[in-house]
Amino acid sequence: MGKTKHTGPIKLSKKPRPDLWVSKVPFGLGKIKPHHLRDTIKVAWENKDSLPYATRILTQGVCDGCALGVSGLKDQTLSGPHLCTTRLNVLRLNTMPAMKEDILRADIEELRKMDSTELRKLGRIPYPLIRKPGDRKFSRISWEEALNMIADKIKHIDPKQLAFYLTSRGITNETYYVAGKVARFLGTNNIDNASRICHSPSKTALNRSVGVGASTCNYKDWIGTDVLLFWGSVAANNQPVSTKYMYAAKRKGTKIIIINPHFEPAMEKYWIPSNMESALFGTKLADDIYQVNIGGDIAFMHGIMKHWFEMEEKEPGSAIDQTFVQKHVNGLEALQEKVVSYDWEILEKSSGLSKDRMKELATLLAQSKTAVFVWSMGLTQHRFGTDNVSQVANLALLRGFLGREHCGLMPIRGHSGVQGSGEMGADPFVLPGSDMNEENRKRVEKYWNFKIPDWQGDIVGVTLENALLPDDHERNLKLYYMSGGNFLETMPNPDFVKQCLENVDVRVHQDIIFNTSTLLDAKEAVIVLPAMTRYEQPGGGTSTSTERMVYFSPEIKGPRIEEARSEWEIYIDLAKRVKPEEKDIIHFEDADAIREEIALTNRNYDGIQHLKEKGDVFQWGGAWLCEGGDCPTPDGKGNLIPVEIPELRKPEGHFYVSTRRGKQFNSMIYGETDPFTDADRYDVLINEADGKKHDIKDGDAIVAYNKHGFFSGRAKFAPVKAGNIALHWPEGNSLLPESVYETYAGIPEYNAAAIVEKAETYYAHKDTKYVERRIEELEMEPS
Ligand code: SF4
Repeated sequence: MGKTKHTGPIKLSKKPRPDLWVSKVPFGLGKIKPHHLRDTIKVAWENKDSLPYATRILTQGVCDGCALGVSGLKDQTLSGPHLCTTRLNVLRLNTMPAMKEDILRADIEELRKMDSTELRKLGRIPYPLIRKPGDRKFSRISWEEALNMIADKIKHIDPKQLAFYLTSRGITNETYYVAGKVARFLGTNNIDNASRICHSPSKTALNRSVGVGASTCNYKDWIGTDVLLFWGSVAANNQPVSTKYMYAAKRKGTKIIIINPHFEPAMEKYWIPSNMESALFGTKLADDIYQVNIGGDIAFMHGIMKHWFEMEEKEPGSAIDQTFVQKHVNGLEALQEKVVSYDWEILEKSSGLSKDRMKELATLLAQSKTAVFVWSMGLTQHRFGTDNVSQVANLALLRGFLGREHCGLMPIRGHSGVQGSGEMGADPFVLPGSDMNEENRKRVEKYWNFKIPDWQGDIVGVTLENALLPDDHERNLKLYYMSGGNFLETMPNPDFVKQCLENVDVRVHQDIIFNTSTLLDAKEAVIVLPAMTRYEQPGGGTSTSTERMVYFSPEIKGPRIEEARSEWEIYIDLAKRVKPEEKDIIHFEDADAIREEIALTNRNYDGIQHLKEKGDVFQWGGAWLCEGGDCPTPDGKGNLIPVEIPELRKPEGHFYVSTRRGKQFNSMIYGETDPFTDADRYDVLINEADGKKHDIKDGDAIVAYNKHGFFSGRAKFAPVKAGNIALHWPEGNSLLPESVYETYAGIPEYNAAAIVEKAETYYAHKDTKYVERRIEELEMEPS
């Protein structure tokens, strides 16, 4: 942890920098780019029935979009307004009225014809609902009936047959904390959150490499660092205001390097709406892009380190920060042995990049005094995600890019609540303050005054699979309680997920809106509970940004859904009904009382108890974790971790498949066409050379298939690394394997190999050739 405090926002110079312009033609006319003004007008129109409330949310609340973090319109990095179309697009979720009665009384098959985008637009869930097997529609029930029914079920099952899940959009630290506590109070450790399917490997890897599972630096460190690397991250698309920080960094001479299989246009150039110069002429962002194979990052990083070790042999001190390594780092020899054991041929084949290209980046980093590494799902959503991230930490540790200004490791988060979910203990491996180990369990028990179960809870993927266990199995999932989330769209293999969700006795959906998973059957009942948004919760709530800023979001005056309740209150009410004799020990008077307790149980969050007003914020851990190179590991040193190059399981003639985001916020889709690539949701991004090789033309109907599933779309030639294709997420999830999890962090595998064929060829041979290929694949692809 660091002693130095964040010094607050800095002012951006207004002096024009024509050398950074994309074009002298104003507003990027004639170019494929987002239309921010048009999007803003559209949002204003959507919110026309509640414009004053919408304005109050934007000016007083903490953004419930991504985890870049902003309170009102102000952030801690740059002075000046902070707003983006992602925030505007999610705004309607907070302002729309309740669903109409005729929708609630509609036949379930009619509702099932809608996709999640259409369901979202129906309005807020107005009151508790229930649907039992054979019911054609939902029926209204009272809170009393709903909670008693859930409590009664919990009383009659083994706590191992009960599980909780919390998504990230809008959920506050207070709700995560209470849910984590209530789960343990009810005897279960089966509680997980959305970070399992995004950044859980980042946390696991950073913990083992540097002793703390969070970003070690701030966005301000981007501005003026020598090199800013984005590894498998399209921050311009997913955290749009980050482009403003990139613009500020470029002005200070920072080099921006992108490592990604797809040359993402948004990371190359961007028109930043809140900056007049950039809005008019655009800003060139990326200085260079390394198009790595999907899954080839470990080999690429080995290549960089191999160059460094060769440079060191010729001239000691020319690549590795020997002073830093000797003082602050373990494991140099073992890492070096692993790195040099790989031939260049293997490194080039796996990464898809030449030895010379690897040398370019190795040299740039060796000559830089500072660097910040930012990464996202491109590194984490693999069955070797933790190794991917530890490999990034290896680079930073060898160069001493840690614990000081303009240096650090940053897993950039895409959901406003997700950073805090694990830190609050809504995680099977974590309790507030530390891991779920005996020492921490005993410590937290003293505050909570009840016994915390000591068995290992399940991650979300395994919890879902538990629904298919025999009925009498002690872990057969009988009640799944979910705060938001839609596994049909976020987990691999939707058909399998549907089977799991429908095999649960009782499913509870605590949410603000319907999605496709709310409409699935359950064996005994589906119960829907209307939740408040973060802006409606009495006493306000807090959320933690990527850079560990804990922001206070006040309760905001405005229209209310009459029966919606604060999420943390619902958990408490339920817990008291299950164990009325112990109700006093699970009671919280108000949101302030929760924050008081968080400050005690998680000492990093000491300070949260003082957050009371709009704009209140503090950063846990100080400006730089591992400040001065001192890591919070048992011996105070960072650990270099030798990692294996993964076997990529791509038989000859197959493509690597990965998914990307279009005009969407996480799984919420806001437009059919990606404003950066002009691709629609069913376009398959493929390299032109691959197209020629397979006799596929731009726009041809094609099919991508493997033993897991099948995706029918159109070829769109794009600058994707040859041998790889990119599909939109979640549509491409049908090609992904179920039940494949990363060893250390439990994230599902989100990549696969697939055959790509013209649709006419596929359908002509479907009955014969396809069957043969499937057998061939089954032999070549171990699962
Ligand atoms: S960049 Fe993220 S935090 Fe900032 S306004 Fe947009 S969605 Fe909200």
